[in-house]
Amino acid sequence: MTDLSPHSLSVLERLRALQADDLPTHGGRTLAYVYDSGLAEADEVGRRATAAFAATNGLDPTSFPSMLQMENELVGFAADLLDAPAEAVGSVTSGGTESVLLAVQSARDARPEVTRPRMVVPSTIHAAFLKAAHYFGVEAVVVDVGPDFRAVPEAMAAAVDAAPNDTVLVAVSAPSYAHGVVDPVPAVAAHAAARGIRCHVDACIGGWVLPYAARLGRPVPPWTFAVEGVTSISVDLHKYGYTPKGASILLHRSPGHRRSQYFAYADWPGYTMLNSTLQSTKSGAPLAAAWAVVQTIGDEGYLELARQVFDGVDALASGVAGIAGLSLLTQPDSTLIAFTTDETCDVFTVADEMNAAGWFVQPQMRFGDAPANVHLSLSAATAPVVPEFLAALEKAVAAARAVGPVVVDEGVAAVIAALDPAALTDDDFDGLLAAAGLISDGQHSSVEPSSSVEPSSSVEPVETLALPSRMGEVNAMLDLAAPRLREALLIAFLDRLQRPVRRTT
Ligand SMILES: *Cc1c(COP(=O)(O)O)cnc(C)c1O
Repeated sequence: MTDLSPHSLSVLERLRALQADDLPTHGGRTLAYVYDSGLAEADEVGRRATAAFAATNGLDPTSFPSMLQMENELVGFAADLLDAPAEAVGSVTSGGTESVLLAVQSARDARPEVTRPRMVVPSTIHAAFLKAAHYFGVEAVVVDVGPDFRAVPEAMAAAVDAAPNDTVLVAVSAPSYAHGVVDPVPAVAAHAAARGIRCHVDACIGGWVLPYAARLGRPVPPWTFAVEGVTSISVDLHKYGYTPKGASILLHRSPGHRRSQYFAYADWPGYTMLNSTLQSTKSGAPLAAAWAVVQTIGDEGYLELARQVFDGVDALASGVAGIAGLSLLTQPDSTLIAFTTDETCDVFTVADEMNAAGWFVQPQMRFGDAPANVHLSLSAATAPVVPEFLAALEKAVAAARAVGPVVVDEGVAAVIAALDPAALTDDDFDGLLAAAGLISDGQHSSVEPSSSVEPSSSVEPVETLALPSRMGEVNAMLDLAAPRLREALLIAFLDRLQRPVRRTT
C-alpha cells in the first residue's frame, strides 16, 4: 500500500464528508435504491474486486480476457437460474436501463423492414421502456392493466393485433416495480410467439430472487425461459444479486436473437469498433465486483438470502395491513410492497415522518385509479429490523394523523391544473419551483453552503440548492400535477441543481 501524502488524505477526508448527507447504503433501513445482503464479507470482496479492476477496459475482450471469462460465467449463472435453453446467450450491462434499452434496440433492429416499429407494454412497465422508445424511435403502445395491477392478456393481444406486422416487441414484468406483481407471462408470450413477435420479460428487480422464492415453495407464477415465447429477459445483479452498482444481465433465448444487438464499424481510420452493449470503453470494476460477489454468495447463499428477505416481506406485509389507516395496494408476489393510507392520514406525511426517523421509504404518485402510496423494496438486511420498522410506522401514522391532511392551496391547485408545460418559460419554472419551496426566490440567494462539507482552502465553497427536509407539501403539489407537467417541473429542478462548481468566479 502506498503511503498517502497529507494532501491526498485531505482529499479522501473531503470525499467522506461529502457522503455525510447520503442515504445509508447498509443496515436495511433504506427501502429503495440500495440492496443490502447484510453479508459484510461479500461486501468486502466486492470492494476489493472493484479496486482491482477499476482501470481495466472491456472495449476489447481479447485484450482483457479476464472480463470475457467473468461475463461468460455470470451469464451462465443467470441462464441456469432462469431456465434458459442450452443455446441461450447474454451480455453483462451497466444496469437495468441498459439491459432494457438493448432489448428494445435489438428487437427493432432484428426487423429492419419495419419502417414504423412499435412495441406493446402494460402501463406498469418500467419507465426505462419509454426511455428506449424515445431514444430508438419505437412507438410505445401502452395498455391499461387490470384492477390487480397485472397486464391483461386480451388487451395486450388486441393492441398487438392492431398492427401485428409493425410490432417488434411485447414486454411484461416479473415483477413490476411499482406494485411488485408478476404479469401473466404465458398468455402474453404465447400470443406474441404465434405472430413471430419477440417477448421480453423485465425481471430487472425480481430475476435474481423469484427463482429462489419458487425453490422455497412460495407460489411464483411462471415467467422464465421455461415459458414458451419468452425471447429475452433482463435481470439486475446490482439489485437482488446484492452486487455493487453498475451490473445487470440481458439474456437472449438464442445467438440469433442477440445478433442485432451487436454493433461493428470498420469504415473509419481507427480500431474496428465492435460492441455488444451501449458502452464502448467500459470499466471492468462492476463486472469483476459482480462476479466476485456472486461467487462469494453462491447458489446456496442466495437461497438463504431469499429465505431471509421473504420472512421480512411476510412480516412487513401483515404488519402494515394490521396498522389502522394503512392498507396494501396488493399482495406482493416478490420483495416489493406498496401501501397507502386512508383519509385519516396523509401518505406523503407518513413518508416524511419515516424518513425523519431514519427509514427511507419512497413515495409513489397517484396513477390511474390507484392512490398515491409508499413503495418499499426489501433487502435481506431489512428482515431483522422489520419489528423496528413497524413500530416507527405506527408512530409515523399517529404523527400524520395529528397534523392532519396536507391541503394544497386551492389557488395553487387551480394554477397547476391550468398550466401547459410546453408553454412554460424558464421564469415560470423559477416561480413554480419557488412556490413549491424547491428553490427560494432569486437563484443566487437560494444557494447556501452545505452544512456538512468543509471546503478545502483551494476550492470554492460547495453550494447546493436548499432542499426542504420534508417533502410532504411538495409531493402533494406534484401529485396534483398531470404527468407531463410533473416531468417538466422536475427537469427544470434538476437543471437548476446540475450547475458546475467553478474553480474561478
Ligand atoms: C430497476 C428497474 C429497472 C431499471 O434498472 P436500473 O438499474 O435502475 O437502470 C428496470 N425494470 C425494473 C422492473 C426495475 O425494477
